[in-house]
Formats: sequence, C-alpha cells, structure tokens
Amino acid sequence: MSGALTVGVLAVQGAFAEHRDALLRAGANPREIRGPRELDDIDALILPGGESTAQGRLMRELGLFEPVAAMIGGGLPVFGTCAGMILLAKNIENDARRHFAAMDITVRRNGYGRQLASFVTRGRFAQYEDIEMVFIRAPYITAAGPDVEVLAEIDGRAVAAREGRMLAAAFHPEMTPDLRVLEYFLAMARA
Ligand code: GLN
Repeated sequence: MSGALTVGVLAVQGAFAEHRDALLRAGANPREIRGPRELDDIDALILPGGESTAQGRLMRELGLFEPVAAMIGGGLPVFGTCAGMILLAKNIENDARRHFAAMDITVRRNGYGRQLASFVTRGRFAQYEDIEMVFIRAPYITAAGPDVEVLAEIDGRAVAAREGRMLAAAFHPEMTPDLRVLEYFLAMARA
C-alpha cells in the first residue's frame, strides 16, 4: 500500500481528539467516525479511551456497532486503547456486558482500583524500550489465549497485546509525544 493510511477514530466519546492529533503527527489521514457512512474505505480503526459502557451504548444507538463488528471480524486492523481494549475483549472479569468480544483476552476493568487509579510509568512495548505509559482508570489483561502475543507488562501484569490484526493497550500512547506505539500499529495496518 502506498500513500497515507486513512485511519478511522471512533469519535462518540472519550479521547478521540488526541488520537486524531497523533495520527496527523504520524503522517496518517485520520477520520472521526460518528456514523456508519464514515466507515467507508478506512484502512484501520482506533477505539479510544473513555468509558466503555457509554461507548458501547452510543455505538449501538448510532448504528455503528454491527458494521464495526463485521469489519473487525473481516480483518480490519484495529487498535483499542484503555476503554477500547475493553470493547475488544472476549471476557470482562468484572462486568456482565460484552462488546465486540473479538480478541481472546480477559480484562479487569478499573484494574488498578481507586488509590492507584491513574499513574504514569515507563516500560518496554514490543521491540521498543522506555515507552512512557499513561494509565487512567485503566484495565489490565488477566488472561490471554494461545494466539495472543503480550507486548507489554508492568509489575507482572499484561498491559498490551496483539492478536492477528488486533492491537490493545491499557495505557494511552496518544497522550505522549512519542509516536512509536502508533507507528507499530500503522506498520501492522500496512502489512
Ligand atoms: N475505566 C474505563 C472503562 O472501564 C476505561 C478508562 C479509560 O479508557 N481511560 O471503560
């Protein structure tokens, strides 16, 4: 594929503006998604952080849920950050709701509890050392299926993973100036 990738950013709630800005900095062509027609011809999709329950409800109300689920099932490259990771997960330990249930991971919502609800740390992500990781009432991954590759761990807990063309991170790469995690996803989408 040549030229800039058109990357949809689910823009119904949460941290979509930060993803749009990061995509522009990375040389991609972001498109905010608020309705099904905006899904046409996207090369990849980002599900931002925010509040997964609200995002799931709004996507259903806007007629986005079914087409996005079908596109993810059809192999559209997708990157879920924080709430977006919860939307992708097959299992949510502490929530009866399921959303796309596409990625073979179990997550714990608000996994860090109240005291450590939000924090910044640094760690390895895939081949990249010393990535700044911003956690905001973040989930973490408590179990992963055999086809899932864990890409980042903090204090022994998996916080980023990949399965096929699906990428998930518990932290917010779009809130730091470092574009390496996004570039990892864009490379995945081009492959
Ligand atoms: N706690 C949120 C949820 O459960 C996720 C937080 C975030 O995306 N920053 O949906």
